[in-house]
Amino acid sequence: MKSIAILGSTGSIGTQTLEAVDFLNDIKVSALTAGGNIELLERQARKYKPSVVAVADLSKAADLKLRLADTDIEVVSGQEGICYAATLDEVDMVVAAIVGIAGLSPVYDAICAGKDIALANKETLVTAGDIIMPLAREKGVGMLPVDSEHHAIFQCITEKKNIKNLIITASGGSFFGKTPQELENVTVEDALNHPNWSMGRKITIDSATLMNKALEVIEAHHLFNVDYDRIKVVVHRESIVHSMVEYTDNSVLAQMATPDMRLPIQAALTYPEMAEGIAKPLDLSKICTLSFYEPDRKTFPALDLGLYAGKTGGSMPVVFNAANEAAVQMFLDGKIRFMEIVQLVEKAMEKHTVIPNPTIKEISEIDKKIRGDLNC
Ligand code: NDP
Ligand code: MG
Repeated sequence: MKSIAILGSTGSIGTQTLEAVDFLNDIKVSALTAGGNIELLERQARKYKPSVVAVADLSKAADLKLRLADTDIEVVSGQEGICYAATLDEVDMVVAAIVGIAGLSPVYDAICAGKDIALANKETLVTAGDIIMPLAREKGVGMLPVDSEHHAIFQCITEKKNIKNLIITASGGSFFGKTPQELENVTVEDALNHPNWSMGRKITIDSATLMNKALEVIEAHHLFNVDYDRIKVVVHRESIVHSMVEYTDNSVLAQMATPDMRLPIQAALTYPEMAEGIAKPLDLSKICTLSFYEPDRKTFPALDLGLYAGKTGGSMPVVFNAANEAAVQMFLDGKIRFMEIVQLVEKAMEKHTVIPNPTIKEISEIDKKIRGDLNC
């Protein structure tokens, strides 16, 4: 029986992973971790009886210990506790579902410990893809994409040859078709109102700015080792085609499915086997129309900014990611307007002098400095 650790088990991907675990019924949950939501973490711990639970917020550790005092579950805390949960001997696979760069060091440690990774946390590859992918190859661990687009590409690549372009689809987020003027005064609630997916708050805002697509282009570059010039983005409102691979003979393979994150999660959990689906079957005759558009790069400059960060490489994607994480938080806290998110990211990138090949320690330092500069 496969044994997994779910990092970020209380979030959108984390809870859907547990739904897939319930459905598959042959996976052991050995570790669960949360940022601070110990009420849900306690409920999950009582249901799945893992060996270890970890909470990142140190101030919640004592309370969590008290809550689980009548069980045999080991309770650990802080960043160290999360990394401990990610590297437990009994764990075969780590589901990386923490949001943001906080997910990087546990993934790094898990790979060092030889664990396969089901990767939802795109920020890991955006900030440290040049370290993580070679390390995964060296350690012989599987990097199984959970992000729906990357899972789609993974399925469409039958052989790693004759690939002309990767074509990543974008739903267009909450503000498809809007003009910059119309975006001036949009609210947090407007931005969180995603048409097709119910996700965590940060990624939903990233979808509205198209930052999410920029992060995904960088993620795809690292996962599939394809040049940036050969990674295209196309807006596809229905979120049925999850991405495509164009081959040198101009044939295009697309992966289609109902928009349900449990499908790529389940695929990663059962890899290399395929199980009966938890997601609903796709009925194309009910959908009728699949539409595709060029992204509006003027109204949503995040896409080209991310492409620039990726192509520049070195520490630039770290700055792009850190400034975005900080700015999204400021927007969610009502401190800045929607359009200022991308402006702040651009300013942070303009000020930055690129460090080539940053180490994990340098990445963490740059991340802290950028957040500090943005007063976050
Ligand atoms: P959520 O915000 O819903 O969940 C985030 C999880 O991370 C929660 O368990 C949270 O704990 C935990 N967490 C937050 N901060 C920290 C921290 N500093 N240290 C440790 N744990 C922390 O996010 P999502 O599930 O939406 O996204 C998770 C990742 O998956 C992101 O990288 C996202 O880009 C990616 N992804 C998500 C998709 C989706 O459909 N949601 C689709 C594709 C990719 P707590 O609940 O206690 O705060
Ligand atoms: Mg995605």
